[in-house]
Amino acid sequence: MDYLPIFIQLRGEPTVVVGGGHVALRKVDLLLRAGGRITVIAPRLHEELRALVECGQINYLSLEFQPHHLDGVGIVVAATDSRDVNAAVSAAARARRVPVNVVDDPELSTFIFPAIIDRSPVMVAVGSSGQSPVLARRVREQIESLLPARLGALARFVGDRRKDVQKALTPEQRRPFWERIIGGLVGSRVLAGAESDARKAFDDELAASHQLQTDAASEIPLGEVYLIGAGPGDPDLLTLRAVQLLQQADVILYDRLICDAVLDRARRDAERIFVGKETGGDHHKTQERIHELLVHYARRGLRVARLKGGDPFIFGRGGEEIEVLAAHGIPYVVVPGITAALGAAASAGIPLTHRRLAQSVTFAAGHALDDETLDWRSLAQPHHTVVFYMGVAQLPRIIARLLEAGGSPHLPAALIERGSLAEQRVVRGSISTIVQIAQDEAIAPPALLIVGEVASLAKADNVKADNEVLAAANDASRTLAREPV
Ligand code: SAH
Repeated sequence: MDYLPIFIQLRGEPTVVVGGGHVALRKVDLLLRAGGRITVIAPRLHEELRALVECGQINYLSLEFQPHHLDGVGIVVAATDSRDVNAAVSAAARARRVPVNVVDDPELSTFIFPAIIDRSPVMVAVGSSGQSPVLARRVREQIESLLPARLGALARFVGDRRKDVQKALTPEQRRPFWERIIGGLVGSRVLAGAESDARKAFDDELAASHQLQTDAASEIPLGEVYLIGAGPGDPDLLTLRAVQLLQQADVILYDRLICDAVLDRARRDAERIFVGKETGGDHHKTQERIHELLVHYARRGLRVARLKGGDPFIFGRGGEEIEVLAAHGIPYVVVPGITAALGAAASAGIPLTHRRLAQSVTFAAGHALDDETLDWRSLAQPHHTVVFYMGVAQLPRIIARLLEAGGSPHLPAALIERGSLAEQRVVRGSISTIVQIAQDEAIAPPALLIVGEVASLAKADNVKADNEVLAAANDASRTLAREPV
């Protein structure tokens, strides 16, 4: 270990920054956040530093650096562009045993700044002992994405209640209690921004734990369900919250659309249960079984991730699942996901709306066409995009209905199979040719049908880019770019 990582209490400490440029400004910002009483020493000053001086946030000495400036100082940072001045600051600091950092110069420094993740009061610091600040910053980014944005709120929530818990529980009870609070319902409520739910859940837990001291009978606390949208397949399209909750879940119920690469982001030791609906299987029965499993595991006090393709509330039966959970009093969190239409359109290069080509978009289910719930006339209109989910088996029927409803035979259409995945295939044509194309190319589910002028922009595997359309669209966007928005 080349450096000892420590956290220094700087509040009110005399702190010197030598240098007045933008590097000094960055350090001053950081030191101010930590509450240092800052004096900047430099012959000239960056205008933002000057503003800080003017509003009394920092002191300023308009001087060349002198060693005696460090008498009685807590820490010093040298951020000038002269190595001689930096070396003089370093020497004066060492002589007085004042910790010194010379920016980007570990040799002249006795301490270095780590890359930090600030979820105050929680702080994460990452360092590479001065070997590679860029690498340290990358590590920080990776950790950053795993830490919920409201981690600091959770730390404060716990901090505010430590004394009460100390009074209510014995020392042996406290640790498992806090484990339950932080890893369970209370923690996930605070992290989701639902503090009033969290307060109530905390009070219930504390009362129950207190009761346990006198009561022999213990009831298993309820678990909870995370209804997570997993996006269209590419694991990098999971949301940060989806990954965070997948890391916590004890049990994962997943669908047919969930690929291994997504499951790989879950906790290694979580129990995984496949609950996909087989084509031709009894969907009603499968859905009933999912409801039973959700309730069963949550009642055993477990954290259950219900992982669904795309978004849970877009053709995902998420609505029914939360009704069941609510009826059983089981707490749940819904995490939105990138629905297939958005993911597939993005990777096929189809803007679903476009200032010239489409002013609105509809997501429609293409598998139940017998009822009259869809307004085919409006779906077949120009300047409108329709995305049909679950439409492959019914493709000829969908197209026939669009034509019957007055859709132009030239209306562009595209099919995207396994959108966003490595095996993605995109074909395009018009509503009079797409059925044949789908047959020739043997397009299979999961796939989306996109109908509307924008479909002509698809980067398709069966046709070269339609230069005319592209050029027209580009012209249009150029003209529009000049118009005031
Ligand atoms: N809740 C999901 C949709 C479930 S319905 C979501 O929001 O995306 C299942 C249908 O979604 C499939 O029949 C197919 O039409 C579509 N689908 C899901 N993933 C897809 C993908 N990667 N590429 C193309 N279509 C996909």
